[in-house]
Amino acid sequence: MNIIITLAYLLSSILFILGLKNLSSPKTARKGNLLAMSAMLVAIIATLTKNEIVDFTFIIIGLIIGSTIGVIIARKIHMTAMPQMVALFNGLGGGASALVALAEYFRLTGDLKLDVIVSMVVSLFIGAVTLTGSLVAFGKLQGLIRPTPVVFKAQHFLNILIFTLFLIAGIIVIINPANITGLLVILAIALVLGILLVIPIGGADMPVVISLLNSCSGLAVAATGFVLSNNILIICGALVGASGMILTRIMCKAMNRSISNIIFGAAGTISRDTGKEDNRKVIAYTEEDATMMLESAQTVIVIPGYGLAVAQAQFALQELVKTLINKGINVRYAIHPVAGRMPGHMNVLLAEANVSYDLLFDLGDINNDFQNTDVAVVVGANDVVNPSARADKESPLYGMPILNADKAKTVIICKRSLSPGFSGVDNELFYQKKTMMIFGDAKDSISKLIKLLKP
Ligand code: NAP
Repeated sequence: MNIIITLAYLLSSILFILGLKNLSSPKTARKGNLLAMSAMLVAIIATLTKNEIVDFTFIIIGLIIGSTIGVIIARKIHMTAMPQMVALFNGLGGGASALVALAEYFRLTGDLKLDVIVSMVVSLFIGAVTLTGSLVAFGKLQGLIRPTPVVFKAQHFLNILIFTLFLIAGIIVIINPANITGLLVILAIALVLGILLVIPIGGADMPVVISLLNSCSGLAVAATGFVLSNNILIICGALVGASGMILTRIMCKAMNRSISNIIFGAAGTISRDTGKEDNRKVIAYTEEDATMMLESAQTVIVIPGYGLAVAQAQFALQELVKTLINKGINVRYAIHPVAGRMPGHMNVLLAEANVSYDLLFDLGDINNDFQNTDVAVVVGANDVVNPSARADKESPLYGMPILNADKAKTVIICKRSLSPGFSGVDNELFYQKKTMMIFGDAKDSISKLIKLLKP
């Protein structure tokens, strides 16, 4: 029987790796998802057939409760709330790992080998940090707590002190595994540290935090795998940990920031009142004005952002793009890596509207083309086209590569007001002469444009 379970785990691992490979491109992402789902099914069935299971009662109760909650959340969740859900799921993954480590500790008391107790301490610590860190990230994204960085004096010193306490408690527990108080101290320290590490991060830096917490949840699972001597948990955890780390690096590159700068820099959002009178003027244009501009264009680049998801305007936007293409206009989408509220948000949204992948261009592939473009149409995007990222050293966006919408001959911006984006930074682009602000819900504005453009 054991050999069959081992082979099933091997098959599951191969499917997970193939799933991840396919998830790396929007073209093959659906297939990747299916492969990863099959891998999980094989792993669950193989684990349930283990003869170590003496009673299925709690497993069945857990399956029913977990699946019911999962189905309800998956059916009810709005696309715009997906990042919060990912943050919450990361946290629950970390919390589950910590609980399994604790349960094993109490089950095996008195009979703990060095490798098992070390894995328990690591699993408990990373799992608990991931739990509270993710809950804070969830609260920030959901607007339940202030999204701006919370900073106070001696914050780094406090974090280092707490981490040192963890190291001391960890060594004590490893030397004397019977020390339950030490283990509970580690749990308490980790729960507090999770909160302290995420509260100073906010605004535009949140994507990095989410991918980092995702990676941590994987590492916690891998450590739990060592606690239980379960190969599939070790492999899955390592895959999640490594892919989360790679994503974190990609996000850091997209923000042009180092990971230490993000975690310890406490930048992210600002609220600046210069005290000076604001004499800048914004002209509100109509959809009719924008139609005239689009009809006379030869090249158009569309920049989607978070507002596209809020307005659920992806279908209307694709219809607009098709209408323009049918008029002989060269239209492409420019995708910023941190547009929206989760990695790949815009790709997922546009895939829903069946946008051809050939029309999607990453920042690096399209940014130099804006200067030869007639119209840049910005739909619900803000931070990712904010020129302050290039010039304003005080801006928390400073250094983040942006899409060069301001280099196009004309910029059409569809949004409801002059409100700033996620980072809270005012956008100079709204006030430029070449910019046409079309105020209103993106779906309404785009639908009006389609009507006006259609013969
Ligand atoms: P953004 O800077 O947050 O701006 C979105 C804009 O959409 C807002 O200014 C808002 O303006 C507009 N909007 C909202 N609802 C709308 C509607 N119904 N119709 C039209 N417009 C609407 O978005 P972004 O340019 O995509 O930049 C993403 C930001 O989120 C970055 O700062 C990024 O770092 C951060 N972030 C990203 C992730 C990720 O993983 N991608 C995760 C967390 C945070 P109005 O209110 O005036 O309409």
